[in-house]
Amino acid sequence: MKLVTFTAGAGQRVGVADPDACMVFDVSALLPTGAGLLDVIETWHDHRATLVREHTRQPRHALDEVALHAPIPTPRRDIFCVGKNYRDHVLEFGRSGYDQPDRSQDMPEFPVVFSKATTSVNGPFADIDPHTGVTSELDYEAELGVIIGRGGRGISREDAFEHVWGYTIVNDVTARDLQRKHKQWLIGKSLDTHCPMGPWAATADEIADVTALQVQSWVNGEARQSAPVKDLIFDIPELIATISAGITLQPGDLIATGTPAGVGIGFDPPKFMVTGDVIEVEITGLGRQRNTIA
Ligand code: MG
Repeated sequence: MKLVTFTAGAGQRVGVADPDACMVFDVSALLPTGAGLLDVIETWHDHRATLVREHTRQPRHALDEVALHAPIPTPRRDIFCVGKNYRDHVLEFGRSGYDQPDRSQDMPEFPVVFSKATTSVNGPFADIDPHTGVTSELDYEAELGVIIGRGGRGISREDAFEHVWGYTIVNDVTARDLQRKHKQWLIGKSLDTHCPMGPWAATADEIADVTALQVQSWVNGEARQSAPVKDLIFDIPELIATISAGITLQPGDLIATGTPAGVGIGFDPPKFMVTGDVIEVEITGLGRQRNTIA
């Protein structure tokens, strides 16, 4: 199933999307009053069968007539992110000098994990604030987002996929000047609106082989990134095992798994995004985002 958070006149609600039919079913009546997608993920086993069986009998809207928000508009805590997790991106990042003071193009020995503030979350078709005066080096990072279902600590590689609820697209928008200046990446990664998410969250059973998904991006229609998830240096089980070794993962936690080569600082001179630019990110089976810098 493809779950969305949307508005169609009234307040935010949870829907089941059928993009092929260009339809979204409002499943509010099947859920506790006021439940958001995060609540649904937390209590998934109470709702899954009902949603599968009953969603097509619920009120429907044309997908292009509703406003789609981030599937999880307000995560419970910061989004776990992984840096330098595609080989060619490690090389371009090292060459760029933005990983100050480390100019190394060596592959990381261990996953590089940082986070993005929850307040950076943005809709899949919403504007991205350029934060003029705060940053002048705005970059994009197309990424596969893993959504945790069953929480846990000390999750083994072997059990990792049993803890995955589903997947979505995350654009890890980055203020490169802030990333470089502050050394720790939190500020450069967390400006408001700098985490477009969605358009939908697909349950894990929708994705036969997550490593086969292709992660792609375009700026103003010009192809920038394209790589399969199988190119990850540290794969999804490794990331879940690493993070959960001493941190309890919780239902609804998000892990942005890293970005392929082709970001703005990969070019010489760098190609930063400016007001009016349109950034699109697509992943096989997970839809396509389209955000304007405005
Ligand atoms: Mg990233």
